[in-house]
Amino acid sequence: MFRTHTCGELRITDTNKTIKISGWVQKTRNLGSMTFVDLRDRYGITQVVFNIDTDAQLCEAARALGREFVVQIEGTVNERHSKNPKMATGDIEIIATAFTVLSKSETPPFTIEDDTDGGEEIRMKYRYLDLRRTPVRKGIILRSKMAQEIRHYLSEDNFIEVETPILIKSTPEGARDFIVPSRLNAGYFYALPQSPQVFKQLLMISGFDKYFQIVKCFRDEDFRADRQPEFTQLDCEMSFVERDDVLNKFEGLTKHLFSKFVNFDYKGDFPRLTYAEAMALYGSDKPDIRFGMQFVEITDIAKNQGFKIFDEAEYIAGICAPASAKYSRKQLDALTDFVRKPQVGAKGLIYVKCNEDGTYKSSVDKFFPQEKLALWAEKFAAKPGDLLLVLSGNKTKTQKMLSELRLEMGNRLGLRNKNIYAPLWVVDFPLFEKDEETGALHAMHHPFTSPLKSDMHLLESDPESVNANAYDLIINGVEIGGGSVRIYDTQMQQQMFKHLGFTQEEADAQFGFLMEAFKYGAPPHAGIAFGFDRWAAMFNGTDSIRNVIAFPKNNSGKDIMIDAPSLVDAVQLKDLRLKVDE
Ligand code: ASP
Repeated sequence: MFRTHTCGELRITDTNKTIKISGWVQKTRNLGSMTFVDLRDRYGITQVVFNIDTDAQLCEAARALGREFVVQIEGTVNERHSKNPKMATGDIEIIATAFTVLSKSETPPFTIEDDTDGGEEIRMKYRYLDLRRTPVRKGIILRSKMAQEIRHYLSEDNFIEVETPILIKSTPEGARDFIVPSRLNAGYFYALPQSPQVFKQLLMISGFDKYFQIVKCFRDEDFRADRQPEFTQLDCEMSFVERDDVLNKFEGLTKHLFSKFVNFDYKGDFPRLTYAEAMALYGSDKPDIRFGMQFVEITDIAKNQGFKIFDEAEYIAGICAPASAKYSRKQLDALTDFVRKPQVGAKGLIYVKCNEDGTYKSSVDKFFPQEKLALWAEKFAAKPGDLLLVLSGNKTKTQKMLSELRLEMGNRLGLRNKNIYAPLWVVDFPLFEKDEETGALHAMHHPFTSPLKSDMHLLESDPESVNANAYDLIINGVEIGGGSVRIYDTQMQQQMFKHLGFTQEEADAQFGFLMEAFKYGAPPHAGIAFGFDRWAAMFNGTDSIRNVIAFPKNNSGKDIMIDAPSLVDAVQLKDLRLKVDE
């Protein structure tokens, strides 16, 4: 038997027990006649003591134990003189009577402690060592618990977990496909699923009624902190439902996970904003509503007042930052620098300080006398001490810039508290978005999304004005999930493909099976998918999804531990009848 207890288990009530524990040497300390070894496993750390006066030979041998050696200890549980309240096992120690080295370790390339000296690169190369660190392990365990809780919750509600294939053909979620050559069908390729979208719809046609799957999806995209080429979705679909059935069901799941994992009891219903409202109020379809500072448009009162920049602008709007911070000249300059950064892209920033005495100080005093600024302030419902920050220009671009500025102000004013969760549904997205260069229409969600009932009559004549019956779940400015009510009618699906630029033949070749399936009794259905990694990262309090993925890829899509992607040998290529163009 390697152990009677784990390294996180023994307490003062176990005093005098003879025990065995096994684990990794966290560190050793030699203090006079004593040698202390901290032994670690997944469950915790236990202090082991070797005493030179009781067993000189054993103590001497223990001094040779290096960090990360795997050791079995036998001994007796003893109450500690100086207790360590920070450790769960801090009231006791083990007086060692024997030990066995089960496995030696070379000096690890970085220190395996909560705060490590290892940079990202080295930790990823030795990810199996990184995973020994408590904060990293915590993220992985949280993820496992969340997956279990979700499975439990949905299964209780009669959802069925069905696995869908990985070697498939292209699914149009808007990214590039990863493709896999087929040896048995030389010259032919599988695509890895960007999502199980078409399969879950087919499962509805099969009558499964309520489906879910915690599933790997693959998208060949450029990398960002919250993106990985392979990532995990909680994917769901339901039959005989309308939008609100789906939203209510998954609002329930979200609240359940809030209370289970972050001890957050959300009272009431999640707010719902249409896409148009979200853009007008926050300049973003994933607004962070932990704080206010909604946009106020002042085009009507600020344009055509002799200030050239405004007079040429399509849209003039701003935010009102609360008085809580005193805005110095230096801070205002810093904000101007911020909006001028290439990632924001504004030319400049207009400010109006609402002084305590009821007067205004602005960067456009020359063009706007006090009474005009008073009108602005009124529109913003500004109070003394508040600061108005105004941007202008093309509507869409200005909204985006103002959205960045709003988030920056939220950060600066400490309004984006990680322990608060502010969810909302954004609904009624446009069905299509237009490629600015080519004029081509793309599905904003995906081609299987139904138009809103009220807009269906416009699908033929004015597709760009049609809104989709699609929805996103946003939490703290992060898109956690998204889905839609689906088309379940061959003709409408064909019309969609036509708008998206598919010829009938192309549509048939790629999605003929789905349109065929619609002919055999397709129930009305709708669904949603959640970014499981993002959700776990959020509940783990970390920004990057890498922290909750056991073996993630780096920023260039590489796994530097196993060295992937890598070259394949000539025989493999020959079998696949592939040639690499050097
Ligand atoms: N398949 C969609 C996605 O991956 C989600 C859905 O519409 O259910 O975003």
